[in-house]
Amino acid sequence: VILLFRVQGGGRYLFDRIEALAQMAGLQYTIAMGSEGIYLQLDALQPFAELAERELYTSLFFHGITASHEMPDTRPPEIPASIAPCPRCLKEMSDPKSRRYSYPFTSCKSCSNQYAFFLQYPYKRSNTLLGAIKPCSQCQEELLSNPFRRDYPLISCPACNIPVALRDGRREFWANSSQEYKQLFSMAAQALREGKRLVVQTLNGERSFSIRPFRGAKLLIANLERAKRELLLLPQELQALFTIERPTLFATLSNEEIREAIGGSIATVRAFNDGFTYLLIRELWDHPFLYYEESGEGELSIDFPLTPNTLQESHYLISKGLSLFTQGELGLLPKYIPENLKSAVVGDHLLHQGIIDRIQRFGRVEAEEITTCEKGIVEHPRTVIKEKGEGALRSVAREHTVEDRKSIGLFFSHRWQLYYLHGERGRRVADFGDLPTNLSHSISTLREGSSKLLHTFSDRFGELPESGDFWERAGAVIGIEGGYRGVVGRAMEFGGKGGVSIDCRLREGRFEYESLFASLMSYRVGGAESTLLAYSLLESLADFFSQLMGEVGRDLEVEEYLLAGKYAANTPFLSRFLRNIPSLKMNRAYPADGYNCLYGITS
Ligand SMILES: [Zn+2]
Ligand SMILES: [Zn+2]
Repeated sequence: VILLFRVQGGGRYLFDRIEALAQMAGLQYTIAMGSEGIYLQLDALQPFAELAERELYTSLFFHGITASHEMPDTRPPEIPASIAPCPRCLKEMSDPKSRRYSYPFTSCKSCSNQYAFFLQYPYKRSNTLLGAIKPCSQCQEELLSNPFRRDYPLISCPACNIPVALRDGRREFWANSSQEYKQLFSMAAQALREGKRLVVQTLNGERSFSIRPFRGAKLLIANLERAKRELLLLPQELQALFTIERPTLFATLSNEEIREAIGGSIATVRAFNDGFTYLLIRELWDHPFLYYEESGEGELSIDFPLTPNTLQESHYLISKGLSLFTQGELGLLPKYIPENLKSAVVGDHLLHQGIIDRIQRFGRVEAEEITTCEKGIVEHPRTVIKEKGEGALRSVAREHTVEDRKSIGLFFSHRWQLYYLHGERGRRVADFGDLPTNLSHSISTLREGSSKLLHTFSDRFGELPESGDFWERAGAVIGIEGGYRGVVGRAMEFGGKGGVSIDCRLREGRFEYESLFASLMSYRVGGAESTLLAYSLLESLADFFSQLMGEVGRDLEVEEYLLAGKYAANTPFLSRFLRNIPSLKMNRAYPADGYNCLYGITS
């Protein structure tokens, strides 16, 4: 039999997981990776099926198993995972009889944030931070006998360990054995119970924890049953939180006290995603959450004598039928794309020999040709420049395998652009232009009464800022700081049914920003609240773009509607957009903006 595990966008760790299960089952097998997913050829289905049922973890990218007639022969290159510990490894950490009891670096070939220790390709122990640590005899034996750790570059245990320190003022406690690791986490938990702040160097970067909520805090779920009582989360959202990729999500807080303390009704929530956060919450299961921030002070700290590489946290959003990554790298990178042979670079990210990762991990790169979206950043005799918006939208089409169909797509990012795509062909249909160089002047000369509006507004709320991007300046008009994030954060607090209509229009193919600003100003002068205006701004822009796309799409007889760009990835905008275009498609295994483009410009 040949089984096809349908995996979207890479999932190299699932390949390792499935291979370990085939070995564990003691069967003859062949395994390969193709664009559809992971192929496994077996001489018998049992006991593999039973093992898979028990040992395959849930992933955002794994969409079930089907039978296959073809069997490709590509074995993917070794790349480090950047996911959470798997259930087997968690069990080792929590079982007092296991030799890895309470050891926070417990991991296997198909789990954990291995990227934290990874220096550069090729991925092998000597190219990681553990290069200087020799595995003990038991670990060496495991490298040969345990299918989950066969040839695993980062194997370690309390006998060949990475020591961990707990520092409390002038005292420090070093853990080097299971007993000491256990003691260290108990002491840290006790300090948290006493109301102290604890800084932990986790595998995903430094985090400052508290048992009490504080302004701007994010939430780490400690006790799921108790957490569920304080949050409003859909079943799909709960499921996503505990997938092996462990993204963060936004959730509405139902607990008034927590709302007050963190300063808003929407919180960023996550489940534990490394050995440190797991062992810490195990000591605190009588609490619904630990509250944390990415950097901060603490009376105590936990660290270890290596400096882990960190990736940006990934944030996931589920809106009606659509689910997507708004941003991030953790759980998403490095990514292996089986069919990709071209090289491309965008920002900090490189696609080379089928792998997408940060540029510095590749060392020296030799490629015949490099594709990019940015002029002047690549020095190569054969550089191909493509448009970023087109690249981003092509990546959406490619992920949904609709490249051959006629589509219209909106790129809503640092530029606002519409593209028409059909197979190899593609063209920009519209570019909505920039903010006017002198915004105040453009507003004052817009129409009769505009000048008076501008004066009334400045008298009451101060001058309109003459610099900053669209979101910073629109935010300033409606009384919100923090640019795009500030506006979205406030819009999500809106509890009403619908917003007011903000002027969105085109004049001679250009977006008339001055009308939009004048419209926001008159609502503000009229006494409208910032929350209503933030929501209305996103809703009106969504209405405008979706209606325009609908019209242009009908004229061009398109079959697909695509959306990409960082400003599209928020709930108020998307839920409105989806009402007008329910069949909308966005990226799935790539974030809505940034390195998604690498997948599109190489198609
Ligand atoms: Zn594991
Ligand atoms: Zn060992």
